[in-house]
Amino acid sequence: MSQQNEYKHIETFAIHGSMKESQPENSPIVPGIEMSTIYEHRKNGHLEGDLKYTRLQNPNRIQLENVLCGLEKGAEAAAFSSGIAAINAVFQTLEHGDHVLLPSDVYFGTRKLMWEFANRWGLEVEFIDMTDVNRLEQACKPNTKMIWVETPSNPQMLITDLEAVVELAKTKNLVVAVDNTWPTPFNLNPLSFGVDLVIHSTTKYLGGHSDLLGGAVIARESGALMDRVRSVQVVQGGVPSPFDAWMLCRSIRSFPYRMRAHNENALDVAHFLSTLPGIEQVYFPGLASHPGHAIAKRQMRHFGGMISFLVEGDQQLATRIVSNTKIIQAATSLGGIESIWEHRKSSEGPLSETPENLIRLSVGLEHVEDLKEDIEQAVKQALTTR
Ligand SMILES: *Cc1c(COP(=O)(O)O)cnc(C)c1O
Repeated sequence: MSQQNEYKHIETFAIHGSMKESQPENSPIVPGIEMSTIYEHRKNGHLEGDLKYTRLQNPNRIQLENVLCGLEKGAEAAAFSSGIAAINAVFQTLEHGDHVLLPSDVYFGTRKLMWEFANRWGLEVEFIDMTDVNRLEQACKPNTKMIWVETPSNPQMLITDLEAVVELAKTKNLVVAVDNTWPTPFNLNPLSFGVDLVIHSTTKYLGGHSDLLGGAVIARESGALMDRVRSVQVVQGGVPSPFDAWMLCRSIRSFPYRMRAHNENALDVAHFLSTLPGIEQVYFPGLASHPGHAIAKRQMRHFGGMISFLVEGDQQLATRIVSNTKIIQAATSLGGIESIWEHRKSSEGPLSETPENLIRLSVGLEHVEDLKEDIEQAVKQALTTR
């Protein structure tokens, strides 16, 4: 698929990885959006070529899958209509009776997918602490088939040692799937550690502007596993529209530069938060005080744009803080150019296991001094009106 998997510099590849490959003279530099759902049958009515029907494949999706595949240094990528559709596709590769291990602090939507569907699919799922690979090994059973990893996890920013997980998985012939939405391929390439599948909600940093929904699965190798993912994609049909694929290619062209600034701002804000009165604890893997810092430093190039922190107080204080800002809006999701934060437990609902005093912050691309000032006044104001 992608000829440019081993790009030299991500900034260059992000721009050119979704441009047209061979073009006639005077053709546009930026590919257009191809809205046709159907393609002409050539030669006496026989289907020829790769393009037949847009659910099966579409030029904009090909461009998108090429660039996603290259960004993660994979062999093949499949684009989906949402992150959760991509996650769903990976779990649908499993068989009735298979056992899956997931992190206890997994993204809430993945947890919900398991709660509502694993039983019906005949999957046995278990949520465990993945900061300790020994515990992971003890949890493996004869029918264990897959380990699902998020590092950092969502929202508590727990770090999992990918090298150790892959080593364990090899001895037991397990599939390792990593949801790489939070670190992004700018900061971490799980496939380089021997992970089998990487999953993205492209709604977040890859989209980057809080205006499109999308997902992707990228495989280290082509073969039976990725064929199953591809079959869920085209047979079950959770595919992105040509317009969404085009929008995402457009966003990805500036993704590496956005990511540099997300990383830089978040590191600065995390340090700032850890000195701020009223803050009990800051969860950010870039802080030396974070229990997963050494592993994160080893496997990641930078630490990403997400911070979670505990306030010294209860749910009321946390909700008051998030509604006290001038720049940072209270909203769910993450990865956009604008900073947003939320009282995470309220977003997750009554079944949430997130601490009631936790605020989750997606650090955007505003000037970092403005962000720090906004946070400081919000916390101060909330503390004095207590
Ligand atoms: C948002 C998110 C998802 C779900 O993606 P959607 O595009 O909302 O379906 C999956 N995993 C993580 C880590 C996320 O943050």
